[in-house]
Amino acid sequence: QCVAVCPTAALTEVNHTDKVWKVLNDPDKHVVVQTAPAIRVAIGELFGMEPGTIVTGQLVASLRRMGFDGVFDTDFGADLTIMEEAKELIYRIENNKTLPMLTSCCPAWVKFIEHQFPELLEVPSTCKSPHIMFGTIVKTYYAEKNNIDPNNIVVVSVMPCIAKKAEAKRPELTKDEGNNVDIVITTRELGEMIKEAGIDFKNLPEEEFDRPLGETTGASVIFGTTGGVIEAAIRTAYEWITGEELKEVEFNQLRGIEGLREGKVKIGDKELTIGIANGLGNARKLLEEIRENKSKYDAIEIMACPGGCIGGGGQPYHHGNDEIVKKRQEAIYREDRRKKLRKSHENPEILRLYKEYLGEPFGEKAHKLLHTHYEARERI
Ligand code: SF4
Repeated sequence: QCVAVCPTAALTEVNHTDKVWKVLNDPDKHVVVQTAPAIRVAIGELFGMEPGTIVTGQLVASLRRMGFDGVFDTDFGADLTIMEEAKELIYRIENNKTLPMLTSCCPAWVKFIEHQFPELLEVPSTCKSPHIMFGTIVKTYYAEKNNIDPNNIVVVSVMPCIAKKAEAKRPELTKDEGNNVDIVITTRELGEMIKEAGIDFKNLPEEEFDRPLGETTGASVIFGTTGGVIEAAIRTAYEWITGEELKEVEFNQLRGIEGLREGKVKIGDKELTIGIANGLGNARKLLEEIRENKSKYDAIEIMACPGGCIGGGGQPYHHGNDEIVKKRQEAIYREDRRKKLRKSHENPEILRLYKEYLGEPFGEKAHKLLHTHYEARERI
């Protein structure tokens, strides 16, 4: 069995490519794949391309050739996350509930807080992470729409991340509802499978993700880099709070690669103070401030990996080379600028999903399907 070590030293990676080939070869299974935002700006490196080359079209084409029945984008799950997380932030601000609110899409940091700061479990957003949200939608809405028994659907997530393998097995996400996501493979594992299949990745014609559930926005793409989740949430929260159009969507004060950053964002008559940490040592500093009631922040984004998911433990190795991480980050922002829609709440397929199935964002059904809870775990 092949193992690799996560650069955060938190986990070892077990190779799950055999499991994916097995379900792809099972005619009774309907196998859906989703790929995280950070994959498209890094996987090309495994095929000799420059860091930061955007290969979304080739990625989709290769997955289709491998035999997946549905090829989707975790960016859709990221747009969905913003609908829920922005509403939750506004709810907490308007009702004097726990602040700061912390983003919750990085499972390594969620596990960190459960073990190291069990008294702060009210602080993270209750939103499931984007790929888990998308898996839930596949096993419910998509299954109903396509008349497929959810027990015959297998959801495979391609993630830049080793911690997502453990996340998909969390009892809170699997106990009552079955698995949302069945198998997680990393960018490197997908690269290995594409090579095993003999696919000429570099020369593939570009293809698009399946529809519906395939439309995505620039806000969802920037989830791939440090600062992106909170910037995406602000783009939506701004318009929902003020009722006015946000004309300048790029919040440069929230961008960068440094491990600890902060910015202020004026929304109507409020000014929100935002903290951003990447790397768990930096996260610890912000959490200690919260524990001591000294935090000045209204919202905080934490990502365990330096640079965020673009520098994740499942990505092509970059051996701590910041230049590679910066090129991937630039590509993420290029992709955001290229998108026609750049705010999650403008995604028409997201709006349709709420209208047809979920009801109100942060409402009862959305809460049941798209939110989770955390548990204090023994210090290890
Ligand atoms: Fe995974 Fe790292 Fe991204 Fe966290 S920051 S979700 S550990 S890749």
